[in-house]
Amino acid sequence: MIITKFDQVQKVFENAKKLGWVIPCICSENQTTTEAILSACSDYGKKIGMRVPIIIAITVNYSHRPQAVNYSYADDWKTGLQLFKDDIKAFAGEGGVYSDIDVLIHLDHVQFDDDIELINSDLTDFSSIMYDASALPFDKNIEMTAAFVKKMKGKILIEGACDEIVDATGTEHNALTTPENAKRYIEETGVDMIVANLGTEHRATGKELMYHGDLAREIQKEIGKTIVLHGTSSVKNDQVKGLFSDGVCKVNIWTALERDSSKELFYDMVVNASKVGGVEVVDKLIEEGYLTEKCRTGEKINIGYFTARYRQRIIFNEMKKMVTDYLTMWYIKE
Ligand SMILES: [Zn+2]
Repeated sequence: MIITKFDQVQKVFENAKKLGWVIPCICSENQTTTEAILSACSDYGKKIGMRVPIIIAITVNYSHRPQAVNYSYADDWKTGLQLFKDDIKAFAGEGGVYSDIDVLIHLDHVQFDDDIELINSDLTDFSSIMYDASALPFDKNIEMTAAFVKKMKGKILIEGACDEIVDATGTEHNALTTPENAKRYIEETGVDMIVANLGTEHRATGKELMYHGDLAREIQKEIGKTIVLHGTSSVKNDQVKGLFSDGVCKVNIWTALERDSSKELFYDMVVNASKVGGVEVVDKLIEEGYLTEKCRTGEKINIGYFTARYRQRIIFNEMKKMVTDYLTMWYIKE
């Protein structure tokens, strides 16, 4: 079931809090990812014998990763957003194969400037929105976010981006969110929850990143369990096991899914090189030094190995496994 009405969305979060659950919010920019998320969640719910929630998200014109644009090769955000919604509806709407879960649809990193057309459109198909003015200086961010909240409070769940996020493409690291800033931000903007910088890398993959649970707990004392964590792909799962007690209610994930499933596909295609690309391609790659003799199996190109279904199946299985790991970590049945 897809849940978009504000009071019902709030209830999903309240229920999760009662259970001690942190809800994963997983981004998608294609149908395979969308289905892997929903399928994992549906199976997990069956396994523990409970109806479980999931947040599925998409960015729109976010320059670091415009996922609605990427959803189709038309490179058109409106088309992509429509396809994304249609996929979710077909899978998890009434009568859908994954309708036994509670799906919230989230708009991620909605830009105060580049997404203005979306912001001013009808948002009733969505459960929540991250209003992102973090490129602006802190005071201006507060001012812009407060104006958005004033217009939309109670109509859609609103996530704000606390702090000015310097464009971190590797060397520059943003300052961690302070409890004082978190408190001021939530009080002055009126958002329902905030993205805090807790040390995970937000816009780049870096080394030696660390999630600061101690800081999250300090922030929780000021604003309660309204913290959203982004950048989870940059740290190992064992760092983010205890998020609920740290005050986190929602955790955004994306990079890891694409990054780690690609490796599986790559491996499988190399092992089955002859069946994927045929004898000639394999011969050429061996000649050029990219592959070794081991790949010269003489096997013929095979329909089981050159279709999108073959490729997407590997991606799907790997993503599903990863989502299941997140659910197992954050949805513990007492
Ligand atoms: Zn993010």
